[in-house]
Amino acid sequence: MSRTDNAVQRFIFENTDIRGEIVSLNNSYVDALAAHDYPEIVRRLLGELVASVVLLSTTLKFEGLLTLQARGDGPLTLLMVECTDQKSFRAVAQFRDDISEGDLQELLGKASLLITVDPVKGKRYQGIVPLEKETLAASLEDYFAQSVQLQTRLWLACDGQTCGGLLLQALPASVELCEDIRTESWNRMTALAETVQNAELLDLNHETLLLRLFHEETVRIFAKEPVRFVCTCSHERSAKIISTLDRKEIESIVKEEGQVAMDCQFCNHQYVFGKEDIDSIFSEKTPIH
Ligand SMILES: [Zn+2]
Repeated sequence: MSRTDNAVQRFIFENTDIRGEIVSLNNSYVDALAAHDYPEIVRRLLGELVASVVLLSTTLKFEGLLTLQARGDGPLTLLMVECTDQKSFRAVAQFRDDISEGDLQELLGKASLLITVDPVKGKRYQGIVPLEKETLAASLEDYFAQSVQLQTRLWLACDGQTCGGLLLQALPASVELCEDIRTESWNRMTALAETVQNAELLDLNHETLLLRLFHEETVRIFAKEPVRFVCTCSHERSAKIISTLDRKEIESIVKEEGQVAMDCQFCNHQYVFGKEDIDSIFSEKTPIH
C-alpha cells in the first residue's frame, strides 16, 4: 500500500462538528533540508515543525505567509518554518555544536513558539506561546486552546526522511447542539486518534490511516492539496537586504575581498555581488517592504 506523498488533506466526521487534517511529506521535506547536514534529532524536530506548519496553515483562512519559530536558550537555538497559503514551505534550524539527544524541552531549554501570519493584504498577526511541554504537539495544543479557542489535538511523527501529522479540531456547535453529545463525540474521536502509531503516520496513505483509526465513523475526505518545498530567496531580495546595511562597511568588504557574498539561510544558495553591483544597490537604494 503506497502512502500519500507530499500532500495535506482535510476531512470531516459526518454529523459532528469535528474536522481533521492529515499530512505526509517525504521528498519535499528531504529537499527542504538537503542543503544542511543537520544531526538526526534536529532533522526530526524540524520535520515535526514542518508538519505542524502545514496543518496550522490548513486550519487558517489566509492569503500570505505563516511562520512558526521556536527559539530557546538550550543547545537547539532555533527551529523555523515558513509556509504559504499555496502550501509551499521552507525550513531552517540553528544549534550549538554540543547538541545531543533529548526531548524538545531539553534541547530548546527555556523557549517559546512565535506564530506569525503575514497576509498579502491587511495586518500582520503574531501570537506567542511558551514551549513548556515535552512535545511540539502538546505545545501547539496549548496555542490553539489559548489563541484560537477551539479544542484541538495534534499527533506528529518524523523519522528524518518522512514526516506526518494528524489534527482534530472541534468547531463551534452547528450540527451537534447538545453539549453532552458534542463532548461525547470529541472524546470518542480523540480516543480513537490517540491509538495512532508513529509508523502509521509515516507509512500509511491517508485513506488507509483514517479507515484504520475511525472505521466505525463516517469520514468524508477532501481532495489532496500538494505541499512543496520552495525557497523564495533571490538575487533581488539579497540586494534589498544589502541596501539596508551600512554602506561603508559593505564597501570596505568589497575593497578587501573583491565581492560580497550572501548565503540564504534556508537553501544555502550563495548570491555574490561585485563592486558594480554594490555601487548600483546603494545608488538606487529602495526601502525593504
Ligand atoms: Zn534560499
